[in-house]
Amino acid sequence: MTFDVIVIGSGQAGVPLAARLAGSGKRVLLAERHELGGTCTNTGCTPTKTMIASARAAHVARTAGRLGVRTREVEVDFPAVVDRKDAIVRSWRDGVSKRLSAHRLTVARSHARFVGERKVEVGGEVHTAETVVINVGARPLVPPIDGLGQVPWLDNGSAMRLRKLPEHLLLLGAGYIGCEFGQMFRRFGSRVTIVDPAEHLLSREDPEISSALEGVFRREGIQLELGKKAIQVSGRAGEIVLRLGSGQEVRASHLLVATGRRPNTDDLGCDKAGVTLDDRGYVVADDQYRTSAEGVYAVGDVLGGPQFTHTSWDDHRLLFDILLGRGRRGRRDRLIPYTAFTDPQVAGVGLNEKEARMRGVKFEAASMPFGDVARALEVDETDGLMKVLVDPATERVIGAAIIGAEAGELIHVFIALIQAGASARAIVDAEFVHPTFAEGLQSLVMKLDRFALH
Ligand SMILES: Cc1cc2nc3c(=O)[nH]c(=O)nc-3n(C[C@H](O)[C@H](O)[C@H](O)COP(=O)(O)OP(=O)(O)OC[C@H]3O[C@@H](n4cnc5c(N)ncnc54)[C@H](O)[C@@H]3O)c2cc1C
Repeated sequence: MTFDVIVIGSGQAGVPLAARLAGSGKRVLLAERHELGGTCTNTGCTPTKTMIASARAAHVARTAGRLGVRTREVEVDFPAVVDRKDAIVRSWRDGVSKRLSAHRLTVARSHARFVGERKVEVGGEVHTAETVVINVGARPLVPPIDGLGQVPWLDNGSAMRLRKLPEHLLLLGAGYIGCEFGQMFRRFGSRVTIVDPAEHLLSREDPEISSALEGVFRREGIQLELGKKAIQVSGRAGEIVLRLGSGQEVRASHLLVATGRRPNTDDLGCDKAGVTLDDRGYVVADDQYRTSAEGVYAVGDVLGGPQFTHTSWDDHRLLFDILLGRGRRGRRDRLIPYTAFTDPQVAGVGLNEKEARMRGVKFEAASMPFGDVARALEVDETDGLMKVLVDPATERVIGAAIIGAEAGELIHVFIALIQAGASARAIVDAEFVHPTFAEGLQSLVMKLDRFALH
């Protein structure tokens, strides 16, 4: 059949884009080979944050004594935690399905691949369209570790399908996915060991931020084997043995691999369509999402990063305008914030100090322990710190990083400020509500000499 637009993949960009294009009168085909809603809904954000909430409830109950509340033994009903997660994922997935059926578009629940220029085969049928949008996302990367093919291992999807809590979970990878899973399983009651060749957890962060998280993890009893490379893995179900470059061996009941992501382009037939991939398999696209093939665009994780739901969703918004000739705002010149949903959360926007130095950007910086915030003391959430970088010439904020309670919410104050191109003075002049965590952001900015009360 002939369509106006074929969207391959029902990810965070594909669904709203397909729905809105259909709403604007286009004939749209959306192809999805697995569950509707993609990674975020099924194996990413939604299930992890749902289970992390259960893990935090266990932690709060266990540590309530600090606030003078005694609890008896805390028991985690792991199957109930997983059932709750499944119910929430199902309701999101049903929501996606309802959204799609509210629009007149064709949904094909099958693998799609290019068989020619703007020709896509889905479930044995070949379709053509003037415009094809690739939104196929990414999946876990399998690191080249000797023996990995011979032992059972988990990834983010299968780890959340377990019905029995691992006795000892060995995690490869200390990025945000590894950190979130590590702390979550520790709080459920597993022993947890995290191994990574980088010297720090979340190694892209300023070392101070990473060190603060490492302190929390160690206090919670997570064993960190940082700066150590995994060389070989052996064993069998329930008895995994990982050998590190140092010669050390780590033994665990389960292995979870969270060492990165790879794009779902290996079986997409990009060569048939003239779509160029980079050496890691990511689709090469320009600022306006155009690939090397006329009429073929790419959005979301398949572009190689930053790989976040909000970025993919924003891609849909920008591409929708481009396709309808309503705007030409590009993807490169965007502010992309992020949060790791560890506890405390780690959030950032703009440049951090390490990046600013590397790029030779002039800045004035202030930092403040999270424990200096009144609210943090009152609720006993004192771990962490906040940092802000300001351009000395314009007083505009050029970056902020926070590790602390609700850092993922707090960072939005800086996101809005940077997006508005406003001076940091706006924070100084405003009245912030007492006692809130956000009030700490004002104190932080006022640590800069130019804004200090003398
Ligand atoms: C464990 C984990 C936690 C995460 N937590 C967060 C978070 O807290 N916040 C955040 O912002 N981001 C988070 N992410 C990242 C986020 O999930 C992704 O950035 C987001 O889902 C990207 O969406 P996408 O639109 O690129 O595609 P995806 O959501 O990956 O969807 C792609 C879809 O395409 C389908 N597909 C692939 N190939 C084909 C084909 N050939 N034919 C048909 N269909 C195909 C796939 O089945 C999939 O459904 C997390 C990711 C993981 C793994």
